[in-house]
Amino acid sequence: MVIKSWRAEAKRRWGKKAIRIQEDGQYAFLTWCGALEVTLLPTRDKAEELKKEVNITRCGGDCALNHEIIDLSDSRLSDHEINPPLSYSP
Ligand SMILES: [Zn+2]
Repeated sequence: MVIKSWRAEAKRRWGKKAIRIQEDGQYAFLTWCGALEVTLLPTRDKAEELKKEVNITRCGGDCALNHEIIDLSDSRLSDHEINPPLSYSP
């Protein structure tokens, strides 16, 4: 059995970029508008739910809907990580 901390994995990936990493789980919901924020969720459904909600309520004043869901068990980088959106300002 592999014991893995998703939080630790999220920190490894985004610890330097993100201003906040919250909750815990395999699926990361990222908002790249303004500064990067990461919310971890246990299931993809929950992550999709949160994304839908934030797409309506917006993540902040300068929200450009640069939101995405990353499966932490998948080691490939997302498009947003390779090419952060223009609105992303660390
Ligand atoms: Zn946003």
